[in-house]
Amino acid sequence: MRPARLNPLFIPVRTLKGVGPRIEGLLNKLLAPKGLGPKGAGSADTGGHARLIDLLWHFPVGLIDRAHTPSIAESPLGQIVTLTVRVAEHRPGGGRKGRRSPYRILVEDESSALDLVYFKADQRYLERLLPVGETRIISGRLESYDGRLQMPHPDHVAPVEGGGVPEFEPVYPLTAGLSNTSLRKAIHGALQALPDLPEWIDEAYLKKNDWLSFAESIRSLHAPKTEHDFLPANPVRERLAYDELLANQLALAILRQSMKRRAGRPITARGQIRKTILEALPFALTGAQTRALAEIDADMADPLHMLRLLQGDVGSGKTIVALLAMATAVEAGHQAALMAPTELLARQHFDTISRFAAPAGLRVRLLTGRERGKERLAILDALKAGEIDILLGTHALFQEAIAFKDLGLAVIDEQHRFGVHQRLALQAKGVGAGAELLVMTATPIPRTLLLTSYGDLDVSRLDEKPPGRKPVLTRTVPLERLDEVVDGIERAVDTGAQVYWVCPLVGESETLDLAAAEQRFAHLRKRFGDKVGLVHGKLKGKEKDAVMARFAAGELSVLVSTTVIEVGVDVPNASIMIIEHAERFGLAQLHQLRGRVGRGAAQSSCVLLYKAPLGEIARERLNVMRDTEDGFVIAEEDLRLRGGGEVLGTRQSGLPAFRIAQLPEHQHLLAAARDEARLCLTRMPRFEGERGERLRLLLYLFERDDAVKLMRAG
Ligand code: ADP
Ligand code: MG
Repeated sequence: MRPARLNPLFIPVRTLKGVGPRIEGLLNKLLAPKGLGPKGAGSADTGGHARLIDLLWHFPVGLIDRAHTPSIAESPLGQIVTLTVRVAEHRPGGGRKGRRSPYRILVEDESSALDLVYFKADQRYLERLLPVGETRIISGRLESYDGRLQMPHPDHVAPVEGGGVPEFEPVYPLTAGLSNTSLRKAIHGALQALPDLPEWIDEAYLKKNDWLSFAESIRSLHAPKTEHDFLPANPVRERLAYDELLANQLALAILRQSMKRRAGRPITARGQIRKTILEALPFALTGAQTRALAEIDADMADPLHMLRLLQGDVGSGKTIVALLAMATAVEAGHQAALMAPTELLARQHFDTISRFAAPAGLRVRLLTGRERGKERLAILDALKAGEIDILLGTHALFQEAIAFKDLGLAVIDEQHRFGVHQRLALQAKGVGAGAELLVMTATPIPRTLLLTSYGDLDVSRLDEKPPGRKPVLTRTVPLERLDEVVDGIERAVDTGAQVYWVCPLVGESETLDLAAAEQRFAHLRKRFGDKVGLVHGKLKGKEKDAVMARFAAGELSVLVSTTVIEVGVDVPNASIMIIEHAERFGLAQLHQLRGRVGRGAAQSSCVLLYKAPLGEIARERLNVMRDTEDGFVIAEEDLRLRGGGEVLGTRQSGLPAFRIAQLPEHQHLLAAARDEARLCLTRMPRFEGERGERLRLLLYLFERDDAVKLMRAG
């Protein structure tokens, strides 16, 4: 349970004074944690309701400086100024309704005069706010209209005494309909509810950095005074970033600990099955594959649990490595399972793996949401009876009450699609709790980020591609030259080439993506007739397979798709990849897509169609794609070009999105947080004592409380 002292921060914003249904709706829209897509560890599902804590995490991005108090005559036009003025005269607007001229209030100081202008005026209110003859402080943007100085709708009007005008005002990211002032008031309310909390950071480390307390830091963050306050290196930001990274590292360390704590069992085999499979393979393993297998073997043979990440670019040959690892588990008398993120991929794995495993007589079966009724029951029975050696499938494998006779090794492919933390947690709790775990990802993750998403997971890298791959020629072409591109495709198709045409990510909504793909499909159909196919996420599994099968069989020459083909599809004859609106994709995604071609004998090419003009960073990003095919280089460049936040297209990659920590800027803090998390868990494996209590506060504050539960369960 959440520590009681944090409860005031987790109540809905509607409990704040001044937040009625309208503002509440806007705040929900702006702040509520979205239930979509992979999230970081354990963020709570709040049903779309923003809470006070969400307001606290909504940081200002800019600053209005009202400290500048010139005379009217000295005041610069177009800027925000704060003036001390005497109210001279009210001039209510004249004319009929609808065409009424605005309400003007003449104010002056020693140097000059100006009009305060109100377009929708409530006379009684204005007369009380700005009584004639009185002196007031006003603040707002100064303009000139028809040769007269004016200030439309001042942001602040306050008596001289009482400090009603803030010198510095934070500017927040907003949503349509929500004013900075309303948001500021709500945040102010949330700050009032922020309790002082006991310190969880190690005292010496806190001192060394000269950091403020958590509550003071949050308050300070919402009260910026100079542009410097917005830099990642600002001590206030550093303290909070460290908090967040520490919470992240603690959660991962707990996860790892809870898995490692379960007594594993050594899994070894003489390698007969593996040998049979290898002998029947039409190729030899690469050096990288052999190295990775040796690392996996060593982990499995060790009595502790394996918790290993196999990282390898698209096409680096992860599948065969997984199969050979599974073969060891089977030979040792256990079962093995492989989970893929999509049905399409699960089927493709099934095809490959059953083919390669056949010579060794392994019993391989497939289980996805589509195997139903009798078929499904038969599979479940066989699984329980130990009559299946290797079970492949989608996440259905782990979500449902599926009983293995004895699962020895679980392989999870394309991990990033699932959201790392959830899967690891699931794995730790659910089916296969006793199994060794091998996680495979095709997203090359920069080293820095690896730590934030996988903690201290052991990593094997397939950094060497199977021989004989030809580089993919990549070109960037503006969309205006689409016709030329289509002409080129037509020539290639005439000689038997096959083409992927990927349509842009239009927005959050799949419907929009689909509309774009359908339009392109219709357009290409005019040129290529029924040699064009279309696949998208809304097609039923069978329909999708049918189109893919026709493409794989060469009946279709052009396959138009939304990004459903992103992961893992293998059609070696396809040699051309067109990506429309490439500037809208993340580099990691572009890299994945391009990896679909260059798998066969023919020279492959990739065309990145972009909408001109490109911004500088967008241009640089596409150039990175053009200049290298090394996924690790691309990932590092992506990190460099985008900085923190949206790295790798966080949402697509399932890497945890941080609220304040920025990478690579806060890299030094990450290293410190990792060491501290390790130390804490060694000293207090169950968060015992006062310090343990405090760390628990930290985890709940950053909503990594899944980890706390796990610690209790383990
Ligand atoms: P990944 O899953 O890493 O994207 P795959 O396992 O699908 O890659 O392998 C891509 C292709 O390369 C497959 O057709 C596979 O059979 C082939 N392959 C794998 N290892 C080798 C190797 N050592 N030599 C030649 N081809 C290989
Ligand atoms: Mg793969």
